[in-house]
Amino acid sequence: MKFDSYWLATAPTLKCAEQSPPEGTFDVVVVGGGFTGLSAARTLARGGARVALLEAGRLIGEASGRNGGQCNTGVAQDYVSLVEQVGRERAMIHYRTYAEAVTTVEQVIREESIECDYLHHGKLKLAAKPEHYDKLARTFEAIRRDVDPDVELLSAASVREEVDSPLFHGGLLQRNGGQMHMGRFGIGLAQAAHHHGARLFEYAPVNAITREGRAYRLGTPQGELRANHVLLATGASQVGPLNWFRRRMAPVGSFIVVTEPLSSEQCAQLLPNRRAYVTSRIIGNYFRLTPDNRLLFGGRARFAISDEKSDAKSGEILRRGLAEAFPQLSDVRLDYCWGGLVDMSRDRLPHAGCHDGMHYVMGYSGHGVQMSVHMGKSLAETLLGQRETYPWQESEWPAIPGHFGKPWFLPLIGSWYRLQDRLR
Ligand SMILES: Cc1cc2nc3c(=O)[nH]c(=O)nc-3n(C[C@H](O)[C@H](O)[C@H](O)COP(=O)(O)OP(=O)(O)OC[C@H]3O[C@@H](n4cnc5c(N)ncnc54)[C@H](O)[C@@H]3O)c2cc1C
Repeated sequence: MKFDSYWLATAPTLKCAEQSPPEGTFDVVVVGGGFTGLSAARTLARGGARVALLEAGRLIGEASGRNGGQCNTGVAQDYVSLVEQVGRERAMIHYRTYAEAVTTVEQVIREESIECDYLHHGKLKLAAKPEHYDKLARTFEAIRRDVDPDVELLSAASVREEVDSPLFHGGLLQRNGGQMHMGRFGIGLAQAAHHHGARLFEYAPVNAITREGRAYRLGTPQGELRANHVLLATGASQVGPLNWFRRRMAPVGSFIVVTEPLSSEQCAQLLPNRRAYVTSRIIGNYFRLTPDNRLLFGGRARFAISDEKSDAKSGEILRRGLAEAFPQLSDVRLDYCWGGLVDMSRDRLPHAGCHDGMHYVMGYSGHGVQMSVHMGKSLAETLLGQRETYPWQESEWPAIPGHFGKPWFLPLIGSWYRLQDRLR
């Protein structure tokens, strides 16, 4: 088994990263080379701005190249809970913003002819307990009434035709959702940004940001750049002078295993409609088939940080989870196992605005494939003067009380969620 992301291991080679150290003056420097940063760089360059992007490691090497491969509509949390949290009007706006974000991803793929095996097959949320079906039914009514008439509530029998597993008690189908090969998409996005004129620097961690009047100087170990504007697209960053942001999010590990290729007959039996699937537990699972017929199976197996030892432990938990969901695959070989960090905000919603004059967007809370592409583009359009506001724009983002940058409280939250999963 490889301890590597399947998406990164099977992505095309990137041919457009700069070979020389970072130097020069730009209209905008984007920090972070995930989907947010690359989407912003592409839009800025297309709009005629001089733009450079600094990435601490490999482009799409973090969440954007390590995720579950789902590009779904709908918010990260249950829609009914969101209505309770923020009110109906705002919940409707949030939900519609995610629908728009899916459209943005499709538009980028089309405009740049990115070959990434995109499928618009929707998302099926599966009731892991009989009581969860009643909750899904309430969510179904609210979504259909407020924001999406095309949702469908599936009985346990109908779900059994969709998912060949004895575990589920019904499901909620949201048709407006997609999936793609994240490595092919990410490299395609990077090539597009480069093609429009953006300069992409890999292995260039920003370790200092200094304000010089209205401009900025960004230092890396290899060299420095100057910029009139800075756009921070750094996700659950663990490096650089970003402690203000670290106090506002918790980096939570999420883990994934991928099986050996299955036969076409096995896939047709297992998941005939090739949708994106999630289960209804708080510490639940997500899964889908890959373009080459492997089963990708992930979850927040443990409330832990991702590193190789942690990923291996989580991989064992996922192996047991996979065998429980699909007993017919209990002997299947696992070819890949990896983890990544989710940038979890307190309200599990994205956050965007300006801090010290620098623009930021992050905090997608594990539901950001679509939104990162959409937000990178929206923020860039604002900088180009093509729009006045962008989604999630805020003037204040309070720190999480008691959080000074190291998430000491994660094991406590993990225990609390596990208890909730047992009781609910
Ligand atoms: C395991 C896992 C599964 C997930 N599954 C899904 C899913 O199925 N569907 C979904 O919608 N979302 C999912 N997500 C979330 C989704 O992947 C992210 O929300 C999205 O990719 C965020 O993109 P980003 O560009 O903002 O962040 P990232 O992709 O994390 O990019 C941020 C980049 O900033 C760089 N950086 C940080 N600090 C510095 C610095 N000081 N200098 C230079 N560079 C820096 C990092 O190296 C990194 O490459 C998942 C996430 C994980 C971890």
